[in-house]
Amino acid sequence: MAREREKKISKITRGSAWLSIVFYFIAYHVVAALLLAVVAVMFYNMLYAKISSESGSIKYLAKIYEASMRLNGENGLDVLNTDNRPFFVKDLNGNIIYEKGRNTCSDEGINIGIPFIGHEVFVYEDTEEDYFKEGLLGFALFNFADKDDEQSGRLDNIKIDNGEIVEKEAEKEVVSLSSPGFGLVSFSSMADEIPVWLPVKINGGRYTLVAKVTIGMDVDDIELMVALVEAFILVNLLIFVILIFSVIRNIRRQKEITDLLYRDEDTEGRNWMWFLVYAEKTLCKRRNAGRRYALVNLFFVKYRNYCVVHSLEAGKRVLLKAYHTMCGYLGKEALVAHVSSSSFALLLEYQQQEELKYRLEELIRELEKTDDGHKFTFQAGVALIDASIRRGRIRKRKDVNLEKDYNDACSARETMEHSEDSGIVFYDDRLMDEQKWIDAVNEHQEKALRNEEFLVYYQPKYSPDTNELRGAEALIRWQSPEYGFVSPGRIIPIFEKNGFITEIDHYMITHVARDQKRWLDQGYKCVPVSVNVSRAHFIEEDLAEQIRDMVDAAGAPRELIEIELTESAFFDDKNALINTINRLKGYGFLVSMDDFGAGYSSLNSLKDMALDVLKLDAEFFRGDADAERKEKVVAAAISLAKSLNMRTVAEGVEDREQVKFLADQHCDMIQGFIFAKPMPGAEYEVRMREAANRPAEGEEREEAD
Ligand code: C2E
Ligand code: MG
Ligand code: MG
Repeated sequence: MAREREKKISKITRGSAWLSIVFYFIAYHVVAALLLAVVAVMFYNMLYAKISSESGSIKYLAKIYEASMRLNGENGLDVLNTDNRPFFVKDLNGNIIYEKGRNTCSDEGINIGIPFIGHEVFVYEDTEEDYFKEGLLGFALFNFADKDDEQSGRLDNIKIDNGEIVEKEAEKEVVSLSSPGFGLVSFSSMADEIPVWLPVKINGGRYTLVAKVTIGMDVDDIELMVALVEAFILVNLLIFVILIFSVIRNIRRQKEITDLLYRDEDTEGRNWMWFLVYAEKTLCKRRNAGRRYALVNLFFVKYRNYCVVHSLEAGKRVLLKAYHTMCGYLGKEALVAHVSSSSFALLLEYQQQEELKYRLEELIRELEKTDDGHKFTFQAGVALIDASIRRGRIRKRKDVNLEKDYNDACSARETMEHSEDSGIVFYDDRLMDEQKWIDAVNEHQEKALRNEEFLVYYQPKYSPDTNELRGAEALIRWQSPEYGFVSPGRIIPIFEKNGFITEIDHYMITHVARDQKRWLDQGYKCVPVSVNVSRAHFIEEDLAEQIRDMVDAAGAPRELIEIELTESAFFDDKNALINTINRLKGYGFLVSMDDFGAGYSSLNSLKDMALDVLKLDAEFFRGDADAERKEKVVAAAISLAKSLNMRTVAEGVEDREQVKFLADQHCDMIQGFIFAKPMPGAEYEVRMREAANRPAEGEEREEAD
């Protein structure tokens, strides 16, 4: 997960830098391609022009030769000797019938023309030069070598006038490229000539005159090409500079974006995202191999209360102070991040668990003093990261699961939820088993409901003085094929957390209503059975209607169903609760307050809600506390309930003396092991039968009389 997030962040931040680089490469290639195309066209155009003009000279020579042959017969060949250009004459079969100078003409030829336009001149390559193999353009740009103008023609000095051969003044000058004035040194050493052999048909095509010509390069042409190359380099440099600027700007932006992503709004420090990325990096560093680390969930107890009493701003100030205290106390090596309003995550290196505990205790002591006028409390859940890892082994990314470790640390911390004091709990095997159990319940709950693995147990309620069956409470049990018989204490809190409790409540109400209907049909004398309805359920606006419909659908009389609400439910939305209770009562159901006296005082709720039954919590009848005081409280609670027209049930009664005391106080019912434990429906049927068979109180007395 951390990896995914890190990848996403670097993708966003690197994206813009990549864009610049891609842009640079595209621009580079487009400019380069354009420039090369222009240079190629120019170069070939120039070659074509030069060769065309040389071709004119050779044709002229051929004409002189033909004229001379006509005038002088075989001796006409001498006229060709007037030009010191190497040449040869070949017949149609390719036999050389005359040659002069070194014949370095290759058999291979090439068409030289202007790209995209097409005018072409055929030339033979010179065997001593391999320009064409290397590519003319490449040659032109890089391969020029100084050469002497060996073959500068004397042909230009000969002229045919009326069939006569006459001498004339030289007109043309071939310019050497070695003249200075080029921007780049490498070009200044270029030579000015490319030798090729030009073929011209003579004697009506029976012979071919092939003469060596050199193509002289013009300084202007080369200068232009060099200027273009220079322009290309400059444009390229410009694009490169722009790219560098853009990359620098992007890197700055990246830093700003990552800073924003990793910054916590409340403390201006680091957030959870940062923690995940850097904790993983720390753990996987080579130099940290074998070191021990602990992940801590540090919880600011009652932070929200502080914000409510003071202000959100004041709360933030305290949070900021606490964050700085943590960073200061733990030093640079530790990672500290603010995760959510009251929670911080810490990654600490440690040697021994005891030493770590001591350090955390000291830190908490510092944190408790965050505000002068206030004593805060902090709770820490600690998960020791892969303590089993071999010493010296480098952690791989796949070995690290920070989310799970933090979750473990939170689970450890949550075991202190009932308390408001500071404390430290290490995640251990017991907690791990608990976590596994929670996962198993989550996984199996749907299937268990579908397969009716949940059983309804009934715990009878008896009158303390007459031992008469007056009611019962329906309590869930899970008969799991995988985990055996499971008590509600192990599943109800999980269902309450994961929301499945509403399904369970529906299931129980439906099953109890069906049982009651069946028992009535079978002639049993049924008593009201109470069903626990979770406080989570009371947020549903139409809860009363849902219950009514379920009971009606089963065909059970509504007055035989009692709805038990736990005391803690009375702290939720009071008006909604009163509304639901009134509607339930209106539909004919009995409503009771469960576990009265167990937690926070709900005396106030009694004032507002006309409940039918008050169930005194089992705590009243347990422990070694002063028996006399306990009795006084119980007596007062019963008398209070009576004065409010409520019936009373004492839960968890286990001994005779308590029964006697409760009878004296006119407690209406006792639900305790002294009379009966929760039992399956079949056993409860026996209890109902026994109750029906026993003589009524009056009858008993009459008989006794
Ligand atoms: P509760 O509603 O207060 O139920 C009374 C609990 O006290 C039952 O525990 C019962 O077995 C136990 N008890 C009764 N008399 C004695 C006694 O004399 N000694 C002792 N040691 N215990 C006694 P149980 O069945 O384990 O249920 C525990 C809690 O689980 C219930 O407390 C209730 O809050 C919850 N619960 C059980 N079934 C359901 C259900 O179907 N739906 C909901 N929402 N909660 C349920
Ligand atoms: Mg109950
Ligand atoms: Mg109870």
